[in-house]
Amino acid sequence: MNPNKQIVVVGGGFAGTTLVGELERRLPPGYQVVLISEESYTTFNPMLAEVVGASVFPEHVVAPIRQMLDASRGTQFIMGRVVAVDRERRIVSASTLAGLREIAYEHLVFAFGTRANLDLVPGLAQHALPLKLVGDAMFIRNRVLQRVASIELQADAQERARLGHFVVIGGGFSGVEVAGELEDFLHGALRFYPRVQRSELRVTLLHDQDRLLPELPESLGRAAARSLAGRGIDVRLGTRASEVTAQGVTLSNGEALAAGTVICTIGTRPNPLVERLGVALQRGRIETETDLRVRGASDLWAIGDCAFVRNQAADGAVAPPTAQFAIAQAHQLARNLVDVLASRPTRAFGHVSKGMMATTGHLKGVAQAYGLRLSGLPAWLLWRAYYLSRMPTLGRKFRIWVEWTWGMFFAADITHLRFTRTQDAEREALAP
Ligand SMILES: Cc1cc2nc3c(=O)[nH]c(=O)nc-3n(C[C@H](O)[C@H](O)[C@H](O)COP(=O)(O)OP(=O)(O)OC[C@H]3O[C@@H](n4cnc5c(N)ncnc54)[C@H](O)[C@@H]3O)c2cc1C
Repeated sequence: MNPNKQIVVVGGGFAGTTLVGELERRLPPGYQVVLISEESYTTFNPMLAEVVGASVFPEHVVAPIRQMLDASRGTQFIMGRVVAVDRERRIVSASTLAGLREIAYEHLVFAFGTRANLDLVPGLAQHALPLKLVGDAMFIRNRVLQRVASIELQADAQERARLGHFVVIGGGFSGVEVAGELEDFLHGALRFYPRVQRSELRVTLLHDQDRLLPELPESLGRAAARSLAGRGIDVRLGTRASEVTAQGVTLSNGEALAAGTVICTIGTRPNPLVERLGVALQRGRIETETDLRVRGASDLWAIGDCAFVRNQAADGAVAPPTAQFAIAQAHQLARNLVDVLASRPTRAFGHVSKGMMATTGHLKGVAQAYGLRLSGLPAWLLWRAYYLSRMPTLGRKFRIWVEWTWGMFFAADITHLRFTRTQDAEREALAP
């Protein structure tokens, strides 16, 4: 490969994979793309709540990156973690299955997202369950099933109430969706646990602002709160968690909520790689010029959650860290890169949001799309149709559609899958 004709993209999330797909179609002959990402798949984060609620299998909210690339165009995928960038030599160092590898670039794009921040509240890291990765979603689902199973074996009424109390911190998209999914899941699972009463299972949603979903118009935030509350979820607005312990959550007003499971959907922190790049940062994100170039650099670019981008050609505001903006930036950057290679002027990023939506449980949701405000079933259907359309390959779309249809008529799967290997099982069996 000619390193002078190589575009290297770091991060295979929404931003990175969209960019690579666009570049494959637009790059002039001779140019190749190398995508480096830690995992072999892209995670559809907006669908993680569905894994928690067993509405879909974990495999269905991820898409294999290799399946999304066009190998016939010479695109290379390297599974590895980028650990350093040598800007003088134009070399990226990545830790891979085969050890440290150096990859040369002509242009380098950062699209490596952010990490979860578990330092926001004391005790969060030790006692709360974050929801950021597909592994988190699977862990939470298993924990929920463990809790319900332990209630059956518990005689103490107070401890039963604590085990059956699930607290979700954060009333943004993922918090609202997880709370709704959890409530449905618990409700559906109950029939298999005859020694657990409906009244012993509770979901509480904590949000420190005065309405849910601050990204949506106020009326939809209120509609989401009503929808959740109508199904028995205790929605606490203007309520901040001040500490998480093994026993539950302490609120800033001093009230202690006894809870067996605390799920955290708030807070992100910069990817540690950001600090090692020696580039300008704004609020922990990589500062970019209006055309998505890293400030002060000619061959470095940044898009998605890791980038601080002004929506210059639209409203001039800072672009929010959402999948929609990550995808829009990827499209614009592909055009700009092609223009740079052809020595044409680049254009400023600009995107007008097409809308936002969230589900609040089975058959319910809120949405704002193309100026329309929807709630209830139409919003829920729109949400499903949109994410189904974004899934790569027809086969995957079909499998998810079948699974969703199945879930409308049959109970959710309550298998508590353990990842125990034979050696561990043997050790456990022999333990006194
Ligand atoms: C639970 C949850 C729900 C959400 N719901 C919504 C929603 O409803 N609507 C919406 O618009 N947005 C939602 N979001 C936000 C949305 O997922 C992000 O804005 C979007 O994923 C950003 O895309 P990205 O490509 O910038 O980053 P990511 O999708 O995070 O991808 C970054 C990629 O970079 C890789 N990577 C990281 N570090 C390295 C490294 N050093 N070397 C190589 N690879 C690396 C990671 O493995 C990952 O694949 C949600 C997020 C979460 C966590």
